Formats: sequence, C-alpha cells, structure tokens
Amino acid sequence: MKSPLDTNVPQIDSHLGLWPRRIGRRLALGFGALVVLMLLVLSQAGLQLRLVSDVTQRFANGDMQRLLRVQALSLQTEGVGSALIRLMNAPRENRVQEYADVDERNRRIDGIIESLSNELKDSGQEETLKRLRVCRANYADAFEATVDQVEAGDLEAAARALNEQINPALKAMLLESNTLLARERERIETQLEDAQRQFQEVAMWVIGLSLLLVAFAGWLAWRTTRSVVEPLAALETAARKIAQGDYASRVAVTGTEEVDRVGLALNTMSDAVHHREQQIVQQAYRDALTGLPNRAALLNPVHGTATSYDSLALIDLARLKIINETLGYATGDTLIKELASRTNGVVQAAAQAGLIGPDAMLARLSGGTFAVACTAPDRAAMETLRENLERSASEAVQCGDHRVDLGVTCGLADSGEMDSSTAVRTLMRNAEVALHTAKRTAVGHAWYSEAQEAARLSHLNLVSDLRQAVASSQLQMWLQPKFSLRTGQAIGAEALVRWQHPTRGFVSPAEFVPFAEQTGYITMVTDWMLREALRTLRAWQPLHPELSIAVNVSTRDLQDAGFARRVERMVGAKGVDPSRLRLEITESGLMEDAQKSVDLLNALRTTGVPLSIDDFGTGYSSLAYLQKLPVSELKIDRSFIDGIDASPGTQKLVKAMIEMGHGLDLFVTAEGVETQAERDTITALGCDVMQGYFGSRPLHGAALQAWFDALAPVQQA
Ligand code: C2E
Ligand code: CA
Ligand code: CA
Repeated sequence: MKSPLDTNVPQIDSHLGLWPRRIGRRLALGFGALVVLMLLVLSQAGLQLRLVSDVTQRFANGDMQRLLRVQALSLQTEGVGSALIRLMNAPRENRVQEYADVDERNRRIDGIIESLSNELKDSGQEETLKRLRVCRANYADAFEATVDQVEAGDLEAAARALNEQINPALKAMLLESNTLLARERERIETQLEDAQRQFQEVAMWVIGLSLLLVAFAGWLAWRTTRSVVEPLAALETAARKIAQGDYASRVAVTGTEEVDRVGLALNTMSDAVHHREQQIVQQAYRDALTGLPNRAALLNPVHGTATSYDSLALIDLARLKIINETLGYATGDTLIKELASRTNGVVQAAAQAGLIGPDAMLARLSGGTFAVACTAPDRAAMETLRENLERSASEAVQCGDHRVDLGVTCGLADSGEMDSSTAVRTLMRNAEVALHTAKRTAVGHAWYSEAQEAARLSHLNLVSDLRQAVASSQLQMWLQPKFSLRTGQAIGAEALVRWQHPTRGFVSPAEFVPFAEQTGYITMVTDWMLREALRTLRAWQPLHPELSIAVNVSTRDLQDAGFARRVERMVGAKGVDPSRLRLEITESGLMEDAQKSVDLLNALRTTGVPLSIDDFGTGYSSLAYLQKLPVSELKIDRSFIDGIDASPGTQKLVKAMIEMGHGLDLFVTAEGVETQAERDTITALGCDVMQGYFGSRPLHGAALQAWFDALAPVQQA
C-alpha cells in the first residue's frame, strides 16, 4: 500500500507569498488589519474634530469678545456725548454726580482702547486705533477746557466748546471705532468661512478614508472567503471521486494548512479504502474453506477466467448433508477439502499431460459441488478426465476413527456444435441439467445434450396428455410390498404409478412425475392414486386389515391448502381406517418452504393418515427441523443401501440415521434392498422395515393377486 506522502501530490499555486497557510491566521490577519485601520480612521477623525473645536473655541473666546469690546467702545463714545450735555444743564449741586458719570465713561473708553491695543495685531486696525487715540486726546483736551468754563460759570462758552470741539472729537472717535467694528466684523466673517471650509475638508477626509476602508474590507473578505471556499470545493470533488471508486486521483496541495491536512487524511483514507476493497474483492471471489475460486470468480471474467472455455464438468459430493448431520460438520468439511485437493491434483495432472488446456480452472460452487472449466479437444478427453476424477474420489477418506466413502456424481457439458466461445454461464447451466440427470439415473454421470433437452421439452407435451391418461385409464397403480425385518412378514406396500402411453408405450414415473409436478397435473395423478389405493385397501380389508398402502405425495399437492380436507373426504367416502393409508413426502419437497410444510403436515396429520419421509438423506433437512414434523416413518434413500454390506463408512452413517430415527420415535425403512447381504447388514444395524427387489419387485394385476393370495392368514388374537 502506498503512503499518501510518497505519492505524487499535485500543487495548487498560492498567489501571495505573505498569505498565511492557515485559515485561522488568515482570518486573524484580515480582521486584525480591519480593526487597526478602523482605529486609524477614528483617531484621524477625532483629531480633525479637535482642530475644528479649537477654532470654534478661539472664535468664541477671542474674536467674539473683541467684537463686543469694539461695540462697547462705540456705545460709550455715544454715551459720553449725552452725559456731557446732562452735566452742563445740571444745577451746581448735582454736578458732582454727573462728573463721576462722565469720568466713569471716559475711564471705560480708555480701558477698552488699552485692551484693544494689546489685542489688535493686524496693521490696518492698529492704524485706526492710533487715529482713535489722537481723537481721544483731542477730546480729552476739549473736555478739560469745557469743564473749566463750566466751573467758571460761563455756560455759554462751555456750550460753544461742546459744540465746536468736544462733539467733533467724539464724532471722530465714533467714526474710528465704527471703522474698527466694521473691520472686526469683516475679519470674523472671513474666519467663519475659513472654519466652515476646514470643517468640510475634515468631513471629506473622513468620508474618503471610510470609503477606502470599506473597499479594503470588501477585498479582504472576498480574498479570505475565496481562499477558504476554493480548497473546500477541491476537497468535495476529491471526496466524490473516492466515492465513485477513483482511488488513483490525489487531493491537491492548496497552500491552506487545515485543508491540506484534511486532503492528506482523504488521500490516506482513499488508499485504505482501496486496499480494503481489494481484500473484499479477493474474499468475494475465493472460497474460504478450500481456497479455490468460487462461483462468482468462475462467472466473472475479470476475476476469474482469462480465456473462454468450451467444456465444463460439475462434480457433486453425494450425501454431504446427511454426513454433516450425522457425522458432524467437521467431517463434512474434511471430505470437501479432501475432494477439493484430489480434484485439483487430477485437473493439474490432466493439464500437464495435455489432456485438457493449460488454463483449466477448478472452482467450488456450493456445498459439495465443484466445477472444472477448461478447453478440451473432444468429449473423449473429458470422459478420461471424469474417469480420473471418479477414480481419485473412490478411495475412502479417513475421518478420525472411521473411513467414509466419497461418492461423486458428474454432469458434463461442452459447446458442441456451437462455436467454442460458449459463455461459462451457459456451460454451467447445461452441466447442471446433466448433473440433475446423472442423479436421477444410477449411472452417476451424464452429458448434457441438445437432444436430451429436446426430449425434456417434449415431456411438456407429454404432460398435457396426462389429463387424457387419467380419464381413459392409461394409468396403473403398481404395488411394491414392504416387509418387517423382525418377523419377515409383509406389512403393506408402496403404490407406484405407471403410465401406458398409447403411442409412446410405457413411460417411467421418473420421466413424467417431475414435469407433472412442474405443471401441476400431478394433483390429478395423486387423486387417482389415492382412490386406487383406498379401493385396494377396502378390497384387502376382510382378509388382511393389517396391511397399509403408501401413496407418494408431491410438493405441489402440499401447496394446495385444501389437500388435507380432500384426503379426509376420500378416506371417509371409502370407509377405510385412515391409519391404513400412508402418505410419503420427499425430504427435499419439505424443505422448499419449511415453516409452511410444518403447518400443512400438521393439518394432514389431523386426518388420521400417518406420514413418511421419503428419500431421506438426499435432501437438506436438519435434525432440529425433522423433530417438528408429525411423521412416523423414515425411509432411507436407496443410494445408501446400495452396496452397504461392503462399505463400513456407509454402515456407520446409516446406523447413525437409524438411531436418530428411533430417537425421534420413528420406524425406519430401508429402500432399494436388492441382496441378502444388504438385508442382513441393515437388519444388524437395527432397521425396522425393508423395501426392494430382494423382497419383491413392484407388482400389478395377476402377479399382485398371486402375492396377496400367498400371504399367511392374519393371526386372530
Ligand atoms: P420412490 O418413491 O423412491 O419409489 C421407489 C422407486 O424405487 C420406484 O421406482 C421403485 O420401482 C424403485 N425400486 C424399488 N425397489 C428397488 C430396488 O431394489 N432397486 C432399485 N434400483 N430400485 C427399486 P419408480 O416406480 O420408477 O418410481 C420412481 C419415483 O417416481 C419414485 O421414487 C417416486 O418418487 C416417483 N413416483 C412413483 N409413483 C409416484 C406417484 O404415484 N406419485 C408421485 N408423486 N410420485 C411417484
Ligand atoms: Ca416413495
Ligand atoms: Ca424413495
């Protein structure tokens, strides 16, 4: 696995050298800069406002005061004129008071002139003030003279002096003071204009600076946002790519530290996910128990077959389920592994010897089923391969303290006349059909052939003839007797259907029953067989009421909810003891819908008809499941009985099955007993009942009657 660090990580240029690599720093820098600039603008604005307020202060304190003083000068000057007239017209005893008034006014005038001379700085005003002083001096002289004349009692001369000297002097003073006033007013107006201009300037400055700040803040926000959003978008794209399974692409380095850290984590994650995905794929295409490729690997050209195959053999380990159940799963696993390794050895050897192509593939499909896909020059080569496989499997396997036989069934298929690049899927389906055929026939192997498929399809036509067969009595019920192994007495028989087809001749039930089941016509056959069996039981009743007849029931019958009621009605109509009739249900049929089967069997059992499990050991039922079924007989499939006397492993297996059956309170029947040795063996193993050619072949007509007549009369208690 590659480390995210040593891979070639693409780089995205960072535009500014000073731009910090961390988002946190970037935000701090941006906002810090904004705060500093804002403080700057605020302090500048404050400074300018201080200046403006200083100007206003100065104006209020200095200029305005001065203006008021100049105004006061004019007023005092005017006032002194009228005070002098009052003085001259006042009676002598009141003059002292008038003098004080005039003196007071004169002093004020002098005080104002004095303070103005300190304040006025502009030269024009100083000139005016100088002239004012001269006028003041003239007035003072005239005033002295006039006072003397008044004191001397010469009021006429005093009035003349007032008119000719004092008043012109005062007028001149007033003129000058008004000039001063006008000047001051003018000055103040200019100063006000100045202040206003200055104020506007400050306002402009502050507005400008604020706008600049807003622009800068905008730029900073855009720059920061972009520097965060763009790398995040890149991360999002990268995460999407990983989600889509693109593990090769790397997240680019963006120059933003936080984002780069996440990017690095994403790269690491991508590698880890990639690695794990590869492991899962590995596991998905490999069988854990044997280490062989599995069905998916065989069917998936990427993970399995590199070339196309033209031949395929399916090898099925017989009886795996019952071995698992009775000898334990560990034994089952040992057998599967052993078969896998032997088969692998045979396939390797065949490929090396050039019997089949070098790219042959062995896969485990399920349970005990293996497939060999290969290219083969002809069918003969595949036949040789099959024989080798069967030979290698024939040797028993040591499991702990006992040896177990490995029986295998083979289904073979090739592309035949089709071009050689037949899909593995087709080959496999065909081989499965062949395997199915091989299991039905005793040969143990079969080739898939088109002709066979065509025949299979013709069965469908055949099945539609069944309706006719039932109506026009082409069907026959044959009975195969069953014997107690304890007493040797016949205890009853199994009813087997035969079909005498008008044009095809005799048709084996093995041929038409499966197809009748597929189409549902089997219920007609079952009903017909039930009627025949009940009729026979009724005929037997007077002489041999102890005999029973077992009728085979198909899955299709079981699916019909009204079946139990129908059986009950038929039994009642014939007046037969329901315990004399038996129904056989195959183990594999029961397993198709396990829970529903339990319910249906319970319903059937209420009719009083006992039930048997047929072909036991070939299906996939578990012991726990069997325990729930209301059955009373276990019929061990004939494949276990065939040659049992020579196979200690099978004996062990069958013994376990019998013990298990007894443990569940069932009586156990062995099917297909053909020899005395087989009968002796199963008797020794504790089996209760036998059925098979050794006891009797299925019988019909006269042969059946002869057998019945020869039966020992039933012992009356
Ligand atoms: P099955 O129920 O297992 O029936 C026993 C089969 O084994 C019968 O074949 C019988 O002839 C055969 N057999 C009996 N003893 C021996 C023996 O010692 N050696 C050998 N090699 N074979 C022996 P058959 O009659 O051809 O029936 C085949 C299958 O067809 C039956 O297997 C059963 O599954 C089905 N079948 C037969 N009759 C009916 C029927 O009426 N209804 C339904 N649904 N199925 C039926
Ligand atoms: Ca049967
Ligand atoms: Ca059977």
